Amino acid sequence: MPDFDSDASRRHLVPFDGNFSLADFPTSIDELPAKKVLKNELEDLVEELHDLQRVLYADGRYAVLAVFQAMDAAGKDSTIRKVFSGVNPAGFRVEAFGVPSERERKHDFLWRCARALPERGKIGIFNRSHYEECLVVRVKPELLEGQNLPHVDPATIWDERLESIRQWERHLARNGTVIVKFWLNVSMEEQKNRFLRRLDRADKHWKFSAKDLDDRARWPEYMHAYQEALRRTSRDFAPWYAIPADSKPYMRVAVARTMVNTLRRLDLSHPELSEDERRALTASRNRLVSPD
Ligand code: AMP
Ligand code: MG
Repeated sequence: MPDFDSDASRRHLVPFDGNFSLADFPTSIDELPAKKVLKNELEDLVEELHDLQRVLYADGRYAVLAVFQAMDAAGKDSTIRKVFSGVNPAGFRVEAFGVPSERERKHDFLWRCARALPERGKIGIFNRSHYEECLVVRVKPELLEGQNLPHVDPATIWDERLESIRQWERHLARNGTVIVKFWLNVSMEEQKNRFLRRLDRADKHWKFSAKDLDDRARWPEYMHAYQEALRRTSRDFAPWYAIPADSKPYMRVAVARTMVNTLRRLDLSHPELSEDERRALTASRNRLVSPD
């Protein structure tokens, strides 16, 4: 693999200048490493992520938010499961966002996501996110009718929403939330294979919904919505990574590597103990070793 270690995150990084083009970001990579190599690499990364999360917690200044967006069957659920499988369950939380509830629709579209944000020291994972408001809702604008908005201008609403998202994420970043966003970029062909497998296997039937085929039929509209969203919201304070998703083993390694690199770049440290705190620890030790 071409210097994956230092390069992986950068290869898939969506530029910050608004010039992102889907055509430049492949769904698969040439020279796929052997499965065994990828499996070993993932194991190492999962372990490192575990260690980094512990330091993140001890450091106590940053929260980490990892956003996952993709077309159906791109592998969001299994990637989240595999990449975070080694992290202490107390150190992270996955929040999945489906069709907004009646209560959620009584609030602005960022509200339900704000409530689910991670606290300092923890990793929060959004399985779908506030971006759905500029993806599925953009592709099916009739959904706006259920949102009880006082006015909707179809000419400006998507730019305004993407601007709100950008500003919200900047605000979060300024206040210690490290944001990293993954678009799992699967091809139409590979999606078809995975749907067929879901239909062939009884234990996968529950994952398939006939509605998924309606979304598939609108593939070009979705790709347009993704391109616009990524162009307008990939910034240094909240970068998007467009991860080739046709190979699940590769995708998982790329996501895990990006998470590890992101955490490594933080100036994380265990808090230094003061003289007094050190003395208190010594006193506790002496108490423990003295006869009860
Ligand atoms: P799944 O992730 O397969 O459980 O499906 C969740 C469904 O909820 C998907 O079809 C999403 O498009 C849909 N969804 C998520 N967020 C929104 C939203 N803000 N408005 C409308 N539909 C949404
Ligand atoms: Mg689904």
